[in-house]
Formats: sequence, structure tokens, C-alpha cells
Amino acid sequence: MTHSIPSIKLLIDGQFVESTTSQWREVVDPATQQVLARVPFASEAELNAAVASAAAAFKTWRKTSIGTRARLFLKYQQLIRENLKELAAILSAEQGKTLADAEGDVFRGLEVVEHAAGIGNLQLGELANNVAGGVDTYTLLQPLGVCAGITPFNFPAMIPLWMFPMAIATGNTFVLKPSEQDPMVTMRLVELALEAGVPPGVLNVVHGGAEVVDRLCDHPDIKALSFVGSSRVGAHVYQRASQAGKRVQCMMGAKNHAVVLPDAHKEQTLNSLAGAAFGAAGQRCMAISVAVLVGAARDWLPELVAKAATLKVGAGSKPGTDLGPLISRAALDRVGSLIEQGVREGARLELDGRNPVVAGYEQGNFVGPTLFSGVTPGMSLYREEIFGPVLCVMQAETLDEAIAIVNANPHGNGTALFTRSGAAARHFQEEIEVGQVGINVPIPVPVPIFSFTGSRASKLGDLGPYGKQVVQFYTQTKTVTQRWFDENEVGGPVNTTITLK
Ligand code: NAD
Repeated sequence: MTHSIPSIKLLIDGQFVESTTSQWREVVDPATQQVLARVPFASEAELNAAVASAAAAFKTWRKTSIGTRARLFLKYQQLIRENLKELAAILSAEQGKTLADAEGDVFRGLEVVEHAAGIGNLQLGELANNVAGGVDTYTLLQPLGVCAGITPFNFPAMIPLWMFPMAIATGNTFVLKPSEQDPMVTMRLVELALEAGVPPGVLNVVHGGAEVVDRLCDHPDIKALSFVGSSRVGAHVYQRASQAGKRVQCMMGAKNHAVVLPDAHKEQTLNSLAGAAFGAAGQRCMAISVAVLVGAARDWLPELVAKAATLKVGAGSKPGTDLGPLISRAALDRVGSLIEQGVREGARLELDGRNPVVAGYEQGNFVGPTLFSGVTPGMSLYREEIFGPVLCVMQAETLDEAIAIVNANPHGNGTALFTRSGAAARHFQEEIEVGQVGINVPIPVPVPIFSFTGSRASKLGDLGPYGKQVVQFYTQTKTVTQRWFDENEVGGPVNTTITLK
């Protein structure tokens, strides 16, 4: 009965169009398995049309004034704010996270849109006066042209908003490829962008999976590509798009450790750990998935388990839910088999969240908070990014031993230290090899005036997706060295006396 299911449109040249593809996939409510929509896998001709439209629009968009672009994003932030509840409800239904988390997802994106409105303050060149007699050198930060973005399922509002507002505000045009698992809230945000005044062709959307992504990597008219998603796909995208001559940034998978010193504030630390490990069902790239208890903090384990056990699993739309379902049946099976493997490999399953009873939502992809102790670095539980509500607990005798554990892990997205000691915090901040560090802050994602600074295996490319770094990512620096002759010296008419018509 696919005819009664709404189909997600492509956005090409300012028009929402029905794809002519024969390949579709269903968007499913992960709490109920109800089919909400169907999403097309765009054809090569549709993708080419989107890129061609963006290339044509670039000719005029690159010349718009800083003020015009700023006013567009001021309007856009207002529209997102006015529609926040509706956006959160769409997001929660297709993605599964609680309404509060969904509002947070939209809000963190909204902050990036606010930042886009002020980007003119950062897109400033430099000038050196008199680099030689009568010669000045200055820089222009010029937009690149058509840029593209590929986004994951877990933040379908925030992550698209990391990308197209920044690219467009700096003078580029854009082709977005949202996650095929939950594209509906992204499309509503795109509609609002057009309502705010984004002209035809400046923003285009194509849907699809691996094939569409590969075509974006290869397309000769796309100059830069921003990717957020898993490490496996990100490494492929980075290599393929770089080989095609593009500027590429890939923000990828993670294994984020919290280090807990025994002098930390116990209640706040345990609350932080429970929220950061199990919130959004662990489907955050900055989720805490490993807790390293140092010294006497090992005795906090029973209380941590007890706290995790109090969290309520349920549909995201139901009040009182702490964690919703996983995105798909495939994700549920994968998380289940990693838990099974953890048991086989000898980790102690302190809390088993498999097969929770959620009345009224028997078909949902639910896993409750799950906690292992006695985890060692060789176990698959530790090596793999689980991306579910599973916390691995390890132990260390000293802070330096804990730091060594974190630094030996290849990922570098986020980490946190819980302590009351300023000296320990400073030592940690200096020695830890992770790009985003929280001190008594479990999920240290920086606000948009800074950049998202994941590091090592969690990131490919040098520049982050917002903040100051994004201006460098989306612009080409051109240096101009300029000389004007003083007419008195070269013997011509002194042009300051000439009246120009
Ligand atoms: P994913 O890699 O499966 O998908 C990301 C995008 O790549 C999607 O648009 C998808 O259509 C496309 N894709 C999937 N398979 C592909 C293939 N074989 N070839 C080319 N393209 C392909 O990621 P996901 O499951 O949607 O998202 C979860 C992952 O994203 C986690 O690993 C998480 O850590 C990561 N993530 C990272 C950050 C960060 O900032 N570092 C933020 C959010 C999510």
C-alpha cells in the first residue's frame, strides 16, 4: 500500500520534486515499526541536476552582500525557533529520541544558524601595509563554489545545520544528502530555509545511500565535502573525495572515556555518567561509553549500576521516558550481539538491558541501560563503537594509568574527568590526547563560536565544521599584492586633482 505513504521529495533548483527513481526505502518509527514515509534513492540524472542548479546559483549568490546573507539567517533562526515544537515532534517520531532530546537536537542546530548570521565577522581578510615601497598585500576569503554534505541518522536536525548554513553564509551553494533513515525533520528544516529566503539552487537536497554518496565524492563540480557518520564510511568518503581533488572533512566514530577520581562529587558524577552513557539510547558520537574508575572510586560501581537501573525505557513521545528505542532492527541486532560477545569474552554483565518490556510498544527496538565491569582493551565491547546504551567500566590505580588507557585508544572525539582537584584537572587537560575535553562536564561539545574539535581516529581533515575553522574550510584564501604609483614620482598628472565623472 505504498501509494498512501507520503514520499519524501528531492529539492532541485528551488522546487520540491518527486524522484523518478525505482529504488525507495521506508522511513520507520523505531518505537512502533509504523511506516512514516518512503525516501527515494536519487538517480544520477537527479544528482547532476542538483549540482548543475547549485553551480548556476553560485554565479549570483557569491556576489550577495554580507548583510543580505546575515539577514537571511536572522530570519531563518526566527522560523526555527517558532517551529521548534513541531520540528522536535517530527524528529522524535522518526528517530526515536525523547521530545526533550529532540528539542535539544534542534536547539544545538539553531545555535549554529545564529552563528551563521554573524559569520561576516569572521570572514575577514588581513592587510599588510608597505610590504615593499608603495606595495600592500591583503587577503580575500572567497567562497569555493558548490559544496556538499552527508549526514548521519543520530542528529538529523543539528548536523545538517552544522553544514548548509555555514556554507551558504560564506557565499557557497550546497547539495545536502541527509540520512536515509530519518530525513523528515531535515526536510522540514530545508522548507523553512526556503521560507527564510534561500534562493532557488543555493540549497539542493538529494536522498540516497552509498551510490549517491560515491557520486557526490566523484562529481567534478563539487569543491568541498563535509561528512559526519561512522568511521568505516568516513574513511572511504575521505579517500574517494580527496582523490577527486576536493577539500574534505569527516567527523566520525568514537569511544569516549570518562575518568572518575575518588575526590569527585559523587552524586553529580554518577548522574552525569548515567545521562551521558544511556541518554539518547547511547546513539551520540559524544556519548560516554567507557568509565574508568580510579582508586577508591571503584567502590562506586554498585551505585552506578543502581542509578542506571532507575532509567525508564520507552517511546520518545511518552512523558517520563529517559531513553527511547534504537534507530532500526539492524541496530538492535548489532547491539544485542555485541552484548552477547562481551559475556562470551569474560566481561561481567552487571546490568542486562536486553528485551525490556515496554507496554504498548512491543515492536519497538528497545534496549535498556546495560553495564559491564571488568572490561579490558582486547574485548570487542571495548574495541567497537557499540552506539547503544552500553557502558563499559574499567579500573585504574592512578590518574596517569587512566590517561594511558584513554591515550592508547585510537579514537579522540571526547573525554571527561570528574574531580574536585584543579591540579589533577590541569594535568589531565595537558596530557590527554583527545580533541574535546570536559572537566566535570560529561559531553563537552563546544558552542558554535568554537569549532567541533574531535581528533585522531574520530576525524579526517584539519578543519572543524563550525566556529572559526569553518570559514577556512568553506573559503579559498587569495592574496593580492597591490602597487599604485605615485603620479608625482612617475611624472604624470597628479590624479588627486582630477575630478572623476
Ligand atoms: P553511517 O556512516 O552509516 O551513515 C552516514 C552517512 O553515510 C549516511 O548519510 C549514509 O547514507 C551514508 N552511507 C552509509 N553507508 C555508506 C557507504 N557504504 N558508502 C557511502 N555512504 C554511506 O553513520 P550513521 O549510522 O548514520 O551514524 C552513526 C555514526 O556517526 C556513529 O559512528 C557516530 O559516532 C557517528 N557520528 C559522528 C559524529 C562526530 O561529530 N564525530 C557526530 C554524529 C555521529
